[in-house]
Amino acid sequence: MRTVQRNLLADGATLERVFTGTIWGEGPVWIPQSRSIRWSDIPNDRILDFDAVTGETRVHREGVEFTNGRTIDLDGHIVQCSHGRRSVERELDGVPHTLIGNFGKHRLNSPNDVVVASDGAIWFTDPPYGIFETREGHPGTMEYGGCFVFRLDPGGELTAVIADRDRPNGLAFSPDERTLYVSDTAEGDGDIHAYDVDMTAGTATNGRLFASPRPGIADGFRVDGAGRVWTSAADAVHVYSPDGDELLRVAVP
Ligand code: MG
Repeated sequence: MRTVQRNLLADGATLERVFTGTIWGEGPVWIPQSRSIRWSDIPNDRILDFDAVTGETRVHREGVEFTNGRTIDLDGHIVQCSHGRRSVERELDGVPHTLIGNFGKHRLNSPNDVVVASDGAIWFTDPPYGIFETREGHPGTMEYGGCFVFRLDPGGELTAVIADRDRPNGLAFSPDERTLYVSDTAEGDGDIHAYDVDMTAGTATNGRLFASPRPGIADGFRVDGAGRVWTSAADAVHVYSPDGDELLRVAVP
């Protein structure tokens, strides 16, 4: 199976280590304007930038309140999750501005990963790791009593779109935005689940199993232009077809 899908990678492509020194790195995003990769070093509470032109990595900011996943919005700005602030924020000129931190009168748990839909709505997951694990946030309680996937519409209204997951974590849309993939990092799960999306109504329904990356579990992942899912796991980046068939593993030492 892997040999027939070699063309998923460029000819002669090899895995290259571009940086070492994070305790754990998470939430990477490619920034086209600066040809760089920005990511979170969660326990070190800092954000790093890898410059693909110079090959150098520098600290973007420290004391960032344990940022995790991030993406780029329709205007090209970084939108990211902060465990410490229990919020989703947008960075403007290097300064984070809170977009949402509450669900009704309750604080969010600790937003983990985020995507922006073509209508500008921000969809994000809200497991409790940042309030349960002191090295990735601040101790706290689950105030609204669950771990939801939320949708923040461009007008600022927050709705819970998925409430049947235990620890929703990574998320991404299919290219046609008719499917939302959500990983669940609860013990005994670790799978990627698919939901049918009605973008006009802002809903995600009919959750079902999509893929079970093993060894390890799926945390963050992305979908490419052909609808293939490229996900984290313990041994490799696992690649799945839109039908959920495994196509490739990019082994990571
Ligand atoms: Mg995550």
